[in-house]
Amino acid sequence: MRFLIMGPPGAGKGTQATAVAEHFGVPAISTGDIFRANVAQGTPLGIEAKRYMDAGEYVPDSVTNNMVRDRIAAGDATDGFLLDGYPRTLAQVAELDGMLNDAGHELDAVLVLTVDREAIVERLLKRAEVEGRADDTEDVIRRRLEVYAEETEPLVSVYDERGLVVAVDGMGEIDEVQGRIFAALDARTED
Ligand code: AMP
Repeated sequence: MRFLIMGPPGAGKGTQATAVAEHFGVPAISTGDIFRANVAQGTPLGIEAKRYMDAGEYVPDSVTNNMVRDRIAAGDATDGFLLDGYPRTLAQVAELDGMLNDAGHELDAVLVLTVDREAIVERLLKRAEVEGRADDTEDVIRRRLEVYAEETEPLVSVYDERGLVVAVDGMGEIDEVQGRIFAALDARTED
């Protein structure tokens, strides 16, 4: 199983990605987590990425694409993976197509979590407060949502035209959303 999970910031992508990947026995590969680990370790990649992340902008494709190429070539991802947070731009879609094509693989599905925009601003502001993320100001949160709408939302129709999209309502409790995801994916894999 090779698939993607997409959704705006605050849609609960990361939490759901971990559970779904475990269910299918594949690694969940989150570009955001890889960037954050690099920031925490102060690596050159982390220092470069932090500037963009703090502003709510995307890290340049040149940096992100190479990082993903290396990660999906790792041994634990040879039989499948769930990509969380990649691709996020049309150029990254083309890059991922190339990576998969080189390896003779194809995507099986693109899971899209749909949410209510204002509800997620509230959710993100609360999370920033609870986790003491001082850099997650309302301006940065709104910028992240804007960048998502401009750069990433168009990817949904690209994958929809390929017949890959599995859309799931991401509003509600974690378990409830997880149940919807499994039901939607099971229905699809039975086809
Ligand atoms: P996430 O945890 O997925 O919300 O990612 C956190 C941040 O990492 C994003 O706001 C971006 O700055 C950066 N990032 C993660 N994935 C990508 C990507 N595919 N392309 C560019 N930037 C990314």
